[in-house]
Amino acid sequence: MVVCCSEHLELAIDYFVDEYEEAPDLYRLDEVSFTAWTVPATCEFCDRIPKFLVV
Ligand SMILES: [Zn+2]
Repeated sequence: MVVCCSEHLELAIDYFVDEYEEAPDLYRLDEVSFTAWTVPATCEFCDRIPKFLVV
């Protein structure tokens, strides 16, 4: 899974498709909550706060 800011959403999708050869599911991090997982503090591709989860 990849977390990313809105600017890097397309990059994250491309990355995911390259890596897993299937289309990812997208979630907004402010609309989902996970009990057993701590959201990373920064985007996978830059130092911004991540907005999306690509899984
Ligand atoms: Zn980013």
